[in-house]
Amino acid sequence: MYKEAINHYLQKTGHTGIHLKAVLFDMDGVLFNSMPNHAEAWHKTMAKYGFTLSREEAYMHEGRTGAATINIVSRRERGHDATEEEIKKIYHTKSELFNQYPQAERMPGALEILTKIKEGGLTPMIVTGSGQTSLLDRLNHNFPNIFRKELMVTAFDVKYGKPNPEPYLMALKKGNLKPNEAIVVENAPLGVEAGAAAGIFTIAVNTGPLPDQALLNSGANLLFPSMPDFNEHWQTFLNDLSLG
Ligand code: CA
Repeated sequence: MYKEAINHYLQKTGHTGIHLKAVLFDMDGVLFNSMPNHAEAWHKTMAKYGFTLSREEAYMHEGRTGAATINIVSRRERGHDATEEEIKKIYHTKSELFNQYPQAERMPGALEILTKIKEGGLTPMIVTGSGQTSLLDRLNHNFPNIFRKELMVTAFDVKYGKPNPEPYLMALKKGNLKPNEAIVVENAPLGVEAGAAAGIFTIAVNTGPLPDQALLNSGANLLFPSMPDFNEHWQTFLNDLSLG
């Protein structure tokens, strides 16, 4: 069922197979249903500072650093970058607003697939642009005994962030992995782009409002419509990997 996508990846990268050891998970929009809150906070914050950023556009920028998102809008609407001070202020407002919303729920299907991965002897890793200091506590609370701190890549580890391949290359380094020993699970176009640019087989899970094509155009090797659907087909995918 998934062999065609796997063979396409192998042909493109020149690897002879995917020898899976680790699964690299993005966090927002994959493990937590936090994107509606992020999109809402971005939309309201930018309006407050006189900029236009629709909720849907916020999904297109998902994964970028806050500064990069602010500058894209500033250049579009004023013809120049925002100052350091503006960026600080705007991002602070966005974070404050976001933190007022109720904490996002665990994504349905996420704990189930993580448990299967772990029990199957594979290593689940987190690769996120998020820099919340409570991140690990939250992960451990929602997904007990799944993740190891030393195998996490967060905003504190990277300089460029997605769509640059840097975060995923760093995950390979931390996990002592070759690109064909891991797969990436992402929900956003820029995250998919980062995974693909790192040379890793990248699975898109479309948990948001964007068309599937936005994720496929960014280089997704495979797409699932939801995390429960991905969880349901995990074993079939693993079987196809070992037959590939
Ligand atoms: Ca995401």
